Amino acid sequence: MRVILQAGYRSEQLGGQVQATRATMGFTPCGRTPVDCRVAYVFYDRLEELSRASKVPLGRMLGLAIAHEIGHMLLPQPSHSPEGIMRPSLELERSILPIFTAAQADTIRARLDQRRYGSDR
Ligand SMILES: [Zn+2]
Repeated sequence: MRVILQAGYRSEQLGGQVQATRATMGFTPCGRTPVDCRVAYVFYDRLEELSRASKVPLGRMLGLAIAHEIGHMLLPQPSHSPEGIMRPSLELERSILPIFTAAQADTIRARLDQRRYGSDR
């Protein structure tokens, strides 16, 4: 798995591929199987812009965006949820950091174990 930080033209180009709005902070192109989801893109310039506008530290925003995209690589599709780190948009107004739900964390652990030890565990 790789997370690639994009900025400038590449960010615009990739954003166009997914019909992203200016609020889109990244994306993970996924096919039909989780094996297809091995590369995620995070739009660094957009995070920087939003960080300046919202006064939320850039490091925090980067961490949230990267964790969200890793979630797309590890969870079954569709992987957005109404709560937590997999919400479709960042919740900057909240002081509590969003996390994976307990069910999402269990799924991620199981999938990582499956990758590490094979499917017979
Ligand atoms: Zn997402």
